[in-house]
Amino acid sequence: MNKQNLDYGKAPSAIRQLTEYGRKRKLEIGEENVFDFSIGNPNTPAPNQVKDTLINLLNEDPIKIHSYTSSPGNIDVRNSVATYLNKTYQASLDGNYIYLTCGAAAGLAIVINAIINEGDEVFLFAPYFIEYKVFTEHAKGKVVVVNHDQNLLPDFDDLKAKISAKTKLLIYNSPNNPSGVFYDEEVIKTLTGILKEKEEEYGEPIFLLSDEPYRELLYEGEKYPFITNYYEHSIVTYSFSKSLSLPGERIGYIAINPHQDVTTDLFYAICGAGRALGYIAAPSLFQHMTPHVLGLTSDLNFYKKNRDLLYQNLKEIGYEVIYPRGAFYMMVKSLEDDAYKFSEAAKEYELLLVPSDPFGVKGYVRVCYAVSEKTIINSKEAFRKLYQRYKGE
Ligand code: PLP
Repeated sequence: MNKQNLDYGKAPSAIRQLTEYGRKRKLEIGEENVFDFSIGNPNTPAPNQVKDTLINLLNEDPIKIHSYTSSPGNIDVRNSVATYLNKTYQASLDGNYIYLTCGAAAGLAIVINAIINEGDEVFLFAPYFIEYKVFTEHAKGKVVVVNHDQNLLPDFDDLKAKISAKTKLLIYNSPNNPSGVFYDEEVIKTLTGILKEKEEEYGEPIFLLSDEPYRELLYEGEKYPFITNYYEHSIVTYSFSKSLSLPGERIGYIAINPHQDVTTDLFYAICGAGRALGYIAAPSLFQHMTPHVLGLTSDLNFYKKNRDLLYQNLKEIGYEVIYPRGAFYMMVKSLEDDAYKFSEAAKEYELLLVPSDPFGVKGYVRVCYAVSEKTIINSKEAFRKLYQRYKGE
């Protein structure tokens, strides 16, 4: 038995443990009495065009629709993704260097395995999506965590101090799971400026991966700084899980900047990693759906309304909250040093809040607001009682 995989399988994540606890608790006391803010499952339906497109496709020639596609995906679909991204973000991508994947998770595992040799360093910006660590360790890379500032944005001095000739890949995620924090153009320019200097110093590419499943979930009308417009050795992983509320269907893509000195080899390595990991060819039906739904989203205003209401409620009670500009998460300051203990205390009020430690940050809980508005309204009293337990007001 492979020890590492046995350990990953045996130790469910803190999020899953809490969600599992919630499942049992809902059976005991009724669903409406548990305020489950634990897991990021989109809960606004996919647009009707998704269903209509799928029905139309299912009426087409089944051999065509269900056959194996080429390993990186159907070239017509990849070209349509490139055309869409070029138009939307003024990018200059090429369908030949787009690889369709089973969601962002497969894209991440493929990219990390494509680039990393044993002992190479992969930098993550705290707070980070937990699976980055699992994929990196599995690829025998070494995780290095970059500290955050008081707004949960990267501490660039820490980045400069830690980066070395062994650093081969950095992964960031904006808007961010678990914080909802957004990396604006200024942040991206600072980050890429540092990397360009370091590449020059070491004479080797340092790859920058932007993991973008929440790219469209932005609530302040921000312009998204598309990374291939800023940095040569850049790669994007994307998924339709959140923008179209299709997490169970497993469809997304990897897009690499085609204007790199190593474009061809990087793409070969991506194809090789996809092959080695058994990830060749994303689900065919959803590949065929993609060109028909590019640019559409579920009703994202649903999340914005939830964000506004929850943020307002928590601030009014007295909680410290990092203002979330996107995604569907917010980080709330724990009312005791140990966020695990705070999360346990919250359970007594039927509030399920994820401690921030596994995301690489201490002293917060992650609150996922992909829930019904009713859950937010009804949870206010529980949040108040939890606050009073600590503050005695
Ligand atoms: N990256 C981030 C930051 C995520 O939050 C998630 C899922 O929650 C993923 C990647 C994986 O997404 P997918 O469902 O497309 O595999």
